[in-house]
Amino acid sequence: MDKLQQKCIKCGLSFKGRLDKKFCTEQCKSDFNNRKAWKRRRKRKRKEEITGSIHKILWRNRKILLKLLDEGTTEILESDLEDLGFRINFITHFEVREEGVNNLNVYDIGCYSDKKGKMIIYSNE
Ligand SMILES: [Zn+2]
Repeated sequence: MDKLQQKCIKCGLSFKGRLDKKFCTEQCKSDFNNRKAWKRRRKRKRKEEITGSIHKILWRNRKILLKLLDEGTTEILESDLEDLGFRINFITHFEVREEGVNNLNVYDIGCYSDKKGKMIIYSNE
């Protein structure tokens, strides 16, 4: 088979080799593939970290609402709810309750604003 002047895709060095040869040495080949595998692992790990932390925030939100309901609290100032650590942007789904008011659901518990700064908490069960 013809040997052609090639360029290593890892280090950029020129070498003579078959057309399908991409690396100048085995070292370059394994470095390249190791790095590729490492990048893949890192990407997967990041994804797991992101979904893991969102999941934690959602569960904390649910826990906060559930605790309030258990204590018999169905109305709370939005600012007090936030002080408890509730993060209003983290919900599992929402639906329109009425014009300008959305039900914010965190799994089976939800809340909505009464437009006067208070949040009404309810259970979907
Ligand atoms: Zn090389």
